[in-house]
This record gives sequence, structure tokens and C-alpha cells, in this order.
Amino acid sequence: MARIRFEALGEVSERRPLEVHLPKCKLSEIFGENVFNSAPMRQFLTESALRSVWDAVVHNKKISRHVADSIAAGMKDWAVSKGVTHYTHWFQPLTGASAEKHDAFFELVGGKPIERFSGAMLVQQEPDASSFPSGGIRNTFEARGYTAWDPTSPAFIMGATLCIPTVFISYTGEALDNKTPLLRALQAVDESATSVACYFDRNVKRVNMNLGWEQEYFLIDKALFDSRPDLILTGRTLIGHAPAKGQQLDDHYFGSIPSRAMSFMNELEFECMRLGIPVKTRHNEVAPNQFELAPIFEEANLAVDHNTLIMDLMDKLSRKHHFRVLFHEKPFAGVNGSGKHNNWSLTTDTGVNLLSPGANPKKNLQFLTFFINSIKAVCDYADLIRASVASAGNDHRLGANEAPPAIISVYIGSHLSAVLRELENLPAGKLNPALKTRLKLEVVGKIPEVLLDNTDRNRTSPFAFTGSKFEIRAVGATANCAELTTVLGAILADRLTAFKGEVDTLVAGGKLKKDEAIFNVLRNYIVASKNILFEGDGYSADWKKLAKKRKLNNFKSTPAALKAELSPRAIELFKRNAVLSEIELRARNEIRLRKYSMTLQIEAQTLADMARNHIIPTAITYQNRLIENVRALDDMYGDASKDRTGAQLLLIEKISNAIAVVSQKTDELVQAYTRAQGIANSQKQAEAYSDQVKPIFDEIRKQIDSLEVNVDDELWPITKYRELLFTK
Ligand code: ADP
Ligand code: MG
Repeated sequence: MARIRFEALGEVSERRPLEVHLPKCKLSEIFGENVFNSAPMRQFLTESALRSVWDAVVHNKKISRHVADSIAAGMKDWAVSKGVTHYTHWFQPLTGASAEKHDAFFELVGGKPIERFSGAMLVQQEPDASSFPSGGIRNTFEARGYTAWDPTSPAFIMGATLCIPTVFISYTGEALDNKTPLLRALQAVDESATSVACYFDRNVKRVNMNLGWEQEYFLIDKALFDSRPDLILTGRTLIGHAPAKGQQLDDHYFGSIPSRAMSFMNELEFECMRLGIPVKTRHNEVAPNQFELAPIFEEANLAVDHNTLIMDLMDKLSRKHHFRVLFHEKPFAGVNGSGKHNNWSLTTDTGVNLLSPGANPKKNLQFLTFFINSIKAVCDYADLIRASVASAGNDHRLGANEAPPAIISVYIGSHLSAVLRELENLPAGKLNPALKTRLKLEVVGKIPEVLLDNTDRNRTSPFAFTGSKFEIRAVGATANCAELTTVLGAILADRLTAFKGEVDTLVAGGKLKKDEAIFNVLRNYIVASKNILFEGDGYSADWKKLAKKRKLNNFKSTPAALKAELSPRAIELFKRNAVLSEIELRARNEIRLRKYSMTLQIEAQTLADMARNHIIPTAITYQNRLIENVRALDDMYGDASKDRTGAQLLLIEKISNAIAVVSQKTDELVQAYTRAQGIANSQKQAEAYSDQVKPIFDEIRKQIDSLEVNVDDELWPITKYRELLFTK
């Protein structure tokens, strides 16, 4: 019965690190060699095509059809020179993964075979989109959506295919993907932040949002992965007793990377370099067989594409190395889960990081402006940040004392807290000269100095300022970073626009100078957003109580968190900043709720199947063996057998009780998910899954895990935690 498990373990014992023969060269020599970036553009594009791409990237200008033909021809020549035969529009539908539809360059023109790639093929493609989720935007009779080229993210080569990053929209113009709203949000940030940055430097023409993500993941041997139905179907283990050794020794964290994993990473990093993904750090994470990978930060749209691409690449390469990569937020109970920290900042086209304190008071006023506006934005829309990171997987992580709490708060460190306190105490209105001087020298002027030794880092905060960037730790490892970044962009743009309006009004009133007006508005913001700042232990029970007093939200489940997306103020916010229309927002919300319900439905069914097909039969087999043994002892010893059968009778009782509970609870589980499946309203359905289906998982699991301990190891059919986690 346990054949699959033992075959898998046998297979694993034979594994050796895969030998990869990577060319010996400097990484800088191969960086971006598979990307259609400026070097090949200069070689393969005409002067006017080159200028046109540049205008599109930097100034959002449209590319004409005629020029598109010429760009496509150059792109194709470059790709063909590298052995490429096919092209695909590469996009990020709302399923979370990336999607592609390949077409050959090959065509027959008048019976003659040629390689062709026209501007029309580059700019637009019509995949058969009817099976991508659209949340009801696209009726099936109008099941058409199209992909359109995003020139701001360069085309790249994967295998023998030229991949062209695109947006995916319906024929009526609604976004059906993650990229479209992200691009809109980034544009909104650019416009609003540029206008505020111009208070400090008139030369600023553009502000970019940067994103540096850190991706956590597990590597599990492929044979072991394939031996577990739950890993195959749900990406996480639904049952499994904790191993005697977990992560309590912390001996994996930053330890030496096991050789098979190392071989995988070497090849992965080599491929990343060729794709222009600037991967920089790799290390073991807290849990056994858990790792982390992080690149140098990039412009947010490119960073999101690179994260999506790398997840795809990791999945492919891990199989080659006889691993499977797990991105699930909580693949193993009792062991650390996986997140994806999102570090973000804003930089101007003049090369200034607006979230980095500067060398003089003027630079620091600029820093404080963007810093405090960011805090206020998060304070006003913490519920939307929380909603953006909500998913069935992340529900296991947020608030589980290893990842940030589900309560959104901002950590800024003691030095900046002190600076904000000083600003808060400023008098309203005009500032007298003595005060101005003190501000300059002692408050604003002091920031860089104090930040240098600002080493206090709070790992329990979901949203922490870390010197020159904010780090958001609440994102799940499977998430598409675009979801959070879109919300962040929308709320920042909204705040900065409002800030500009308030400052301009005060200045236009004639009483205040620009700097005084800025101080006044910032001071109001500090007062208004004090509640969101928290410096203590985010995991503690005290914080939960305090947060409640402060009226901060603590949404524990995805259906509860997602409600915020449809509040009137959220709808208005996204509309006002031209990021998402109400139709788009509702469609997205619908898709996310459905995805949540579907995930739980698959988990429930998998657990029920495992209980009925694997666990109960195994437990009965072992129980029968015990019963036979007791009978034999009775036959042999008659009345004197009691001393010898007592322990076994107890065990039989334990096992039969567990079987009874598993069996009964499994029936309840099936009834509960069948009921939930029948609910038409997606919010109510998700709530039914969260409140009525999910709690039964734990009851079943508890019994199964106790059976795992009591049943003969030789019979146990499901690969155990110690085997999954400690096989290198
Ligand atoms: P850690 O948080 O693990 O201590 P670092 O602070 O060195 O590590 O950086 C982690 C991530 O932050 C990296 O992905 C890096 O690219 C990103 N990062 C660093 N500086 C910035 C910045 N100014 N803007 C956005 N991301 C940044
Ligand atoms: Mg980090």
C-alpha cells in the first residue's frame, strides 16, 4: 500500500546533483543577451524606429503602424539570428500565472516559405481568450480579448521563442490582466509625484516607482512531491505529523546551500542573467529546504514581469533538477511559510531617490514630503493594502506569528518617529525665524546623520521603512506583485495629488510661503495618521488589543479582507486616479473570490479523497493486524492473555476512534463543500468556505496526524514530513 512512498524514497536516495555545464564567463558578459534591449536595438533597428521605441518608453507616445512594421522586422531578424523560430505575446491573466500562445514566424507567401513578422503581429494578437477569467466582463458570445504590446518591457527569448510582453484587454477596453492597471497606476504616480517633486527641483520631468522583490520558496524532491496527492493538486500538504526535528535549531538559516539546490540555483541564475534579470542574492531561509532569491531592484513594471518570468523559469528548471518548487504560502503546517517582500521607492529622472534622506535640509524636506505622504496614504487605505495581499494561501500566513500580522501598520524606527514628533508640535500657520532655523538645523537637517546608524529593524511589521525604501512583507509567495503595486500606486497618486492641491491653496491664499505650507500640511498628516504607526512587536497579543482600540482593521480571512475592494471610497479612489473602472474592480473582486472558493473546494475534495482512499483503509489494515494478534494471544494464553494484550487493545481503541472521527468528519466536509458549491453569490460562497468548510480541515487533520504516529510506518502511504523536509 505504501509502495509509492517507498519507491519515491528509493529514487531519492540515488539522486546526485545534476551536472550543469555552464560556459565559464563573467556574468556581466552574458547579462541581457536574450533581451531585445538597447544594444541589439541599435544594431537591428533604423534610426527612426529606435527613436520611436524610446519615445514610447520614456514619453508614453504611440508607435505608428508603419514604424511598428519596421520594429517588428528588426526584432525578428535579431531573434532569428539567435535561432528563434516562434513568437508569442506574453501576458499575465488574472489567474496569476503567465500565459502565452505561440505562432511560428514561418509563412507561405505564394507557396514560398519565408520568415515573417509584421508590425500588426507585434502590436496586437488575439488569443482564444474565452477560458481566462474575466469576472463576467466578457460574455462568452463575445469571448474575445486581445493582447497589445507593452514597449516599456523589452521582448526576450525563452528557448526558441521570442516573448513579447503585452497587456490583455477585452474588446470593450477593460483590463483582463494584472499589467494594464499596474501601468495605469504607475502613470498616475508619475504624474502626481512629478508635480510634487517640482516643488523642490523644477527639472524633474518623471518619477518612476521601483520595486525590489524577495522571493521565498521550497525545493522538494520531485519523486516525493509526486507521491503526495495533496502536493500535486493543491501545492501544500493537507496532512502530516510534525517531525521530531523541525526548524527549532535554526541550523538551516543562512547555512551552506545543499549541493543539489546549489546546482539548480547556478543554472537558474545563469538563465536569469541571460534574460536580464539582475539576480543578486540567494540564501537558505528559516525552514528546512526553504530558500530565498532577490534581484537588484528595477522599475516596477519590469520588476513585476521579471518576478512572473522567474517563477515560471524556476518551475521549469526545478523539474530538470528533479525538484519541484513550492511557492505556496504555507506548504507545511508548523514550519515557516513563504512570502515575497516587496521593497519599493520612488526615483526621479534626475536620479534622486525621493524616499532617501538627503545631504541638506531642502533634500530632507523633499524626503519628508514623500515619506509622510506615503504613511498617510497607507493610513487612509490600509484596508486596500490588506485586500491586495489576500489569498487562500496567504490566510495561513498573515497573523500566524512568523509572518506579519493581518493588521496593517507602518514601522519607521525610533529616529524618524522622533522627527515626526517634532514636526507634529509645530505651531499652525506662519513659522517665526527662530523656529525655522531650529527646524533646519535640528530636525530636518539631522535626518541623514541619524539614519546612518539606524540599525533598528523590526521584522514583525508588515510595512517597514528600511532606510531608503519601504518594505512590505505581507505579500504572499505566489502573488503577482502587480496587485499590491497597483493599489500602492493608486493610493500614493491620490494622496500626492491631494497634497499638491492643499499646499497650492495655502500658498495661493498669500499668507504662507511654499515651505511653510508644506510643513503645515505635513503636520496635519502626521496628526491624522498617527494610528497607523507602530514600533513594537507585531506578533504580540498586546498589539492586537491596542490595534483594536485604535480602530485598525484586522481581517483574518480573504473574504473578509476583499470586501474593502468594493467600498464606495475604494471605487471612487480607483476611478479618480484612472486605475480601474467600477466594472473592472467588480470583475476583479469576483475573480478573486471565486479563486478563493475554488482553492478551498479543491483542497476539501483532495483531503476527503485522501482520508477515504488512503488513510482509512491503511488504518483498518493495521487495526485488523492488531485484532488478529490479540485473538492469537487469547488463543494461546486463554485467561492469562490480558497482561499481553492490554496495550494493543488500547491502541485498537485509539485507532478505531480516530477512524470513526475521520470518517464522520469527512462526510461533514463533503456536505459542507457541496452546500458551499451551490451558493451563487460569490462573497457568500467564499464566506461559507471560510466559515463552514475550512474549520473541518483541522479536525480531520488532527486525527489523521495521530494515526500517522500510531500506524506501522511500513504501511503508511503518505510521504512523511521528515522525508519531505530533510531529504536534500
Ligand atoms: P534585506 O531586506 O533582506 O535586509 P536589502 O535591504 O539589501 O535586504 O534589500 C532587499 C531588497 O530590497 C532587494 O531586492 C533590493 O533590490 C531591494 N531594494 C534595495 N534598495 C531599494 C530601493 N531603493 N528601492 C526598491 N527596492 C530596493
Ligand atoms: Mg527583506
